[in-house]
Amino acid sequence: MKISPNHVVTINYTLKDNDDNIIDQSNDSTFCYLHGASNIIPGLESALTGKSSGDEVSVSIAPEEGYGIRDESKIQAVPREAFPADATIEPGMQFHAEGPEGQSVVVTIATVADDIVTVDGNHPLAGVTLNFEVTIADIREASAEELEHGHVHGPHGHHH
Ligand code: ZN
Repeated sequence: MKISPNHVVTINYTLKDNDDNIIDQSNDSTFCYLHGASNIIPGLESALTGKSSGDEVSVSIAPEEGYGIRDESKIQAVPREAFPADATIEPGMQFHAEGPEGQSVVVTIATVADDIVTVDGNHPLAGVTLNFEVTIADIREASAEELEHGHVHGPHGHHH
């Protein structure tokens, strides 16, 4: 069986940036996704298309095919008083905020200076080249219900 849309794929992977830092890792065959449903970043999905169980894939993914390029307009200065007075605000902390179209976005505190907090609405991996070492652990056909929902069910998938 080869990886193609409407299949559930289990992978083990190590993700590193260009400085060899490990960003993320899954080695216990618990990461699975529905191929062709945009469950994973586009660059990784296309690199895995056509692969078989047991195959090893090394791929370097540019930000445009990963979490996007950084958008400096998503960096904003916010008055400290916009945050709860008793909240500790430190660089690196992440908050859920409402985006311009009412969507939920994650913002990261960039800097805190006196009464001004600088928040960064870019994805933490925006602008980062993603170097994946992937081993395909399992491939199976998706169920009709999984296809309808657009995600994987079962022990390592969604629970309803
Ligand atoms: Zn579901």
